[in-house]
Amino acid sequence: MAAKKTSAHHVTLIPGDGIGPEVVAAAREVLAAAEVPIVWEERLAGAQVFKKGVATGVLPETIKSLRRNKIALKGPLETPVGYGEKSANVTLRKLFETYGNIRPVHELPGIRTPYSGRGIDFVVVRENIEDLYAGIEHMQTPDVAQALKVVTRKGSEKIIRLAFELARAEGRRKVSCATKANILKLTEGLFKRVFEEVSKDYPDIEASHLIVDNCAHQMVMRPEQFDVLVMTNMNGDILSDLASALIGGLGFAPSANLGDDYAIFEAVHGSAPQIAGKDVANPTALIHSSALMLRHLGELKAAELVENALFATLEDGKFLTPDVAADREPGGTKSFARQVAKNLGRAPRMFPRRAFKRIKMPRVTRAAVMTKPGSRARAGVDVFVESSLTPTVLGHKLEKVCEGLPLKLSLVSNRGIKVYPVEGSSETDVVDWWCARFRPMGGIALTDDVISVLLARINAVMPWMHVEKLSAFDGTGAYSKAAGED
Ligand code: NAD
Repeated sequence: MAAKKTSAHHVTLIPGDGIGPEVVAAAREVLAAAEVPIVWEERLAGAQVFKKGVATGVLPETIKSLRRNKIALKGPLETPVGYGEKSANVTLRKLFETYGNIRPVHELPGIRTPYSGRGIDFVVVRENIEDLYAGIEHMQTPDVAQALKVVTRKGSEKIIRLAFELARAEGRRKVSCATKANILKLTEGLFKRVFEEVSKDYPDIEASHLIVDNCAHQMVMRPEQFDVLVMTNMNGDILSDLASALIGGLGFAPSANLGDDYAIFEAVHGSAPQIAGKDVANPTALIHSSALMLRHLGELKAAELVENALFATLEDGKFLTPDVAADREPGGTKSFARQVAKNLGRAPRMFPRRAFKRIKMPRVTRAAVMTKPGSRARAGVDVFVESSLTPTVLGHKLEKVCEGLPLKLSLVSNRGIKVYPVEGSSETDVVDWWCARFRPMGGIALTDDVISVLLARINAVMPWMHVEKLSAFDGTGAYSKAAGED
């Protein structure tokens, strides 16, 4: 049975690496059988592109095609581990500002798991651009690596509004925000504060917060309690993989990367190189992702047609791929896709359907708006230095360095722990990377000129790597304290 024809959609198709081409071909076969009018533009990204020496992993033709079409269906892309290239996935998400990663998790007909019958049906909404995945890393010394965790009010507001809008579009009642705000009070704390503010604009939706480690625990203990979950990038990445295991595994987890202007649909899983080319990869996640894409294109009937055929095939339990076939005769990627195509027009017997409306994408300004606090004061400066001295010798040396300047050494910390001055001996196992915190003396303003002189004097005795000005906005310190700092 075919979907009703509308004018053709132009979609960029990225087959990807490992099992990518197989699961992408499976989704294409099903959409072709559903006669959804799509003109595919096949383009490259991932391993083959890295091998051509393109450090982003994405070819200029691929970028051009996406700019034109504004929508892509992609297979997984392999990421080189360690030094060198960035992830091509992250590049695509960032280039096209697809800030919202939507990962639906619901029990599937015919797929038996320890959770079957509990009514799991929630969506993880993961921020997709910021956090540690901003990918800003520096080797501070040859032995000390640092990554910046970047969380912004704007980025948080966009994803949190998107989570509430998704809840409304899908008739859901509750949005839970999971953070690590108890430890990371500024970054995860900002996300939590913005959640509390934004939730006031959605009085029809229940809003609650939980600590992310408890969220992991709750997800395993009582996953049916969740409706929509919103999280910063890395928390959402990890917990959405966990969530997929509750409903059968990564082979079943679809996702959509949404932005104001672009949308990229893909499975949650990676390129699974161990099973690539063997016709055993489960194409469910990618076929389901393609149904999410149809819904985004406004092809609501076709989306339902494809989903129904997919779920009916799972419910029948024939042709299942080995990851879920259990004691049944397994099928393969191709035979499963063929069966889904054959089943177009059928619906699963047991599957509660949801009424979907198009998600109203939140409109948050694109300008770099500066917020002016009522007051802004310079509370000090942190200078990160490299040294193999002991804490006491280093502390004395740094005290000498600032003699005669209108500032004083307040403390030295190592990996976030105060090590100088301390009473008695310190238990801290130190490394060669130290943070020296200087405070202005006696109400004298700490100017950039003073900081420049300080840096020149430090440089004469030891290398420094990075400087952080400490601010106080509206009288509140806008920086973290070291463990043991007053
Ligand atoms: P993976 O998702 O590729 O594999 C994890 C496990 O799940 C493996 O046991 C694999 O065999 C299984 N699996 C995954 N998809 C399956 C499917 N459709 N059917 C049956 N079994 C499936 O994760 P990984 O091994 O950590 O990563 C492999 C590569 O993929 C890495 O280079 C990684 O960076 C990349 N990756 C890409 C994406 C993406 O493109 N969005 C996402 C995650 C990982």
